[in-house]
Amino acid sequence: MQEDVLNIKNQALAQIMSADSAAELEQIRIDYFGRNGRFTNIIKNIKRVSADERKRIGLIINEAKKSIEELLENQKRNLRESVREWFDPTVPGQKPEIGHLHPITKTINEISRIFGRIGFERARYPEVEWDHFAFEALNMPKNHPARDEWETFFIDVPENSKYGKTVLTPHTSNGQVREMLRVGTPPIRMINIAKCYRRQSDISHAPMFHQFEGLVIDEDISIVNLKGTLDYFAKSFYGEGRTTRLRPYHFQFTEPSFEIDISCGVCKGRGCKVCKSGWLELGGAGMVHPNVLKAGKIDPVKYSGFAFGWGVERVLMMKEEVGIPDVRMIYGTDLRYLSQF
Ligand SMILES: [Zn+2]
Repeated sequence: MQEDVLNIKNQALAQIMSADSAAELEQIRIDYFGRNGRFTNIIKNIKRVSADERKRIGLIINEAKKSIEELLENQKRNLRESVREWFDPTVPGQKPEIGHLHPITKTINEISRIFGRIGFERARYPEVEWDHFAFEALNMPKNHPARDEWETFFIDVPENSKYGKTVLTPHTSNGQVREMLRVGTPPIRMINIAKCYRRQSDISHAPMFHQFEGLVIDEDISIVNLKGTLDYFAKSFYGEGRTTRLRPYHFQFTEPSFEIDISCGVCKGRGCKVCKSGWLELGGAGMVHPNVLKAGKIDPVKYSGFAFGWGVERVLMMKEEVGIPDVRMIYGTDLRYLSQF
């Protein structure tokens, strides 16, 4: 019987050494240690030997079983490691696609940087705003017809006795008086960039859009300062050689008020198919109305200022060579379009 045990052990060891898959090793385990395995049967037969022999054979069986099990485990581990050798760290990997910031975010960052260089501080004011800061403090009393232009969304909540109705701010100009009240004593150099909301949706308007609002208040601020700032922006954002012009206009919260045009980048102001006149319309600006300064608790005799407010989407549309046929596409999820920027 001792011989049988040693024979089986040697056969098992030999088979394990030549096995080259986990499945094969498992089959060997079953062949020897399964319910009807060769080793299992040996153990079953141990009853047949005498009691003295049984003890000795028992030790030999245990020793053999242990060797086989150890070798099985080792061999399993070796097979796993040889699979790992197939991993070649020198093969070039697959690079994950790297995205970029949304074109509007990039534009906002660039505008912030441009104005930051000449001392403007970025401010942020509420999108859900009181009527007071959105209109009343900007020289637009209740029921003033000028309010109609803003196509405002009203929030259905009770009116505030001091500040009136609640609106989704239709422009970043709501930040003007808030900034004056926050700073107290000029100088003020604010650039307020925020989301705005109006009841509008067509190829050049989206119900939610972004504006940036510049506000400068100090002693002796004149139209010359406004014009210089606008030209600086035109050059910095659109490139050397671009300039702006002021056209008289009317806003309630500035006096005098202007529409700002920028010289066409295609024809450099001579006139072409894109611009017709050589100029493209950028947005509004003007000298802060004395009533607005008063609403911000600033003395309009001592101080003066200018303000401008333009659409972020608009300045981007006028810059991008890829073209933005429909402003609403900017807020779509079509990466084929967005990845161009
Ligand atoms: Zn042109």
